[in-house]
Amino acid sequence: MQKYNLNQNQFSDLINLENKVFLPLKNFVDEGEFKKILYKEKFKSNFFPFPIFFGIKFNSYKKLKNAKAIKFTYKTKDIAIANKINFYTIDKNIFGKKVYGARYFKNPYFQKFKKENYIFLSFKLKKVFKKNLNHRYFLSPKKFSQIKKKKKIKSLSSFHTRNVPHAAHQWIHEYLIKNYKNLLIQPLVGQYKRTEYRDNTIINLNKIAASAYRNQKNKILVVPFFSYPRYGGPKEAALHAIVRKNFGCTQFWVGRDHAGYKNFFRKYASSKYCKKNQKKIGLQIVAKEEPYYCKICKEINNNCKHLKIKKNIVLISGHKIRKLIKKKSFIPKYLMSKTISKKLNRSSLIN
Ligand SMILES: [Zn+2]
Repeated sequence: MQKYNLNQNQFSDLINLENKVFLPLKNFVDEGEFKKILYKEKFKSNFFPFPIFFGIKFNSYKKLKNAKAIKFTYKTKDIAIANKINFYTIDKNIFGKKVYGARYFKNPYFQKFKKENYIFLSFKLKKVFKKNLNHRYFLSPKKFSQIKKKKKIKSLSSFHTRNVPHAAHQWIHEYLIKNYKNLLIQPLVGQYKRTEYRDNTIINLNKIAASAYRNQKNKILVVPFFSYPRYGGPKEAALHAIVRKNFGCTQFWVGRDHAGYKNFFRKYASSKYCKKNQKKIGLQIVAKEEPYYCKICKEINNNCKHLKIKKNIVLISGHKIRKLIKKKSFIPKYLMSKTISKKLNRSSLIN
């Protein structure tokens, strides 16, 4: 039997599909499903914004093109056996246009998409080696629902991040706790990109932030979302909302440029798109203006009267903070709380 070694993104997509993280989608899309999601934002009769596809490079295709069955492995372990294999192509420019917008061809993630997906395939999984389809950063919605039940959590707001928490994130955490009581902070891990934070740093520092808000009245949970950024803007943001719905959340914060990349999408395109589709997604989208530091109020706010004059405010971004870390510079409190920043240094970043 032909073997194919999954890369980490394919492995994480598979583990998420098999564990119902992307419901109603349970398999990698076939050609018809791919097109329907792209053109109609639908999987069967449900709203679904972003295809979860299985693509391979030309070299792999040369080896696999006549295979009746394929054994998937990941880091030397057997993961699954696939049969009923069907290869198909889709117009990559249409994918680019639909996901990344009119300037898609300039987006480096579109270029990556083109390079990595010579052809797509759909298949049935004849056998899954369940013990091996696991990862230390993966928790299934099923296991998570047991935790929720034990803690008697009914309503649960949620926050997605790819970052260690800075002052604006903490403002959002507190906003969600104040308005919705319980909070799931769910950092996306599994990205392995240079100059980004290491996965365990992201998880641990979000846990430290969470422990600061905990009291008898509210429950704050930190559970990773084992996946990878697709830089797909509004459509990926809606996929993130569906994931939280499947984890049993009742609210989801969609902030400035959620799942965006540089200025490919408008600042609030993701929150507008998710808000518009919140009924179809099945949870409440919390879309507010971006928090910033106001030099006059001397605190973080998202709509104070000083906002109109640019020099009054300081925008807070992970990028700004990572730059300070790289230069070994001091991180001021208005950008990041001391409890968090004192745990960070150059080795927190992948180099
Ligand atoms: Zn102000």
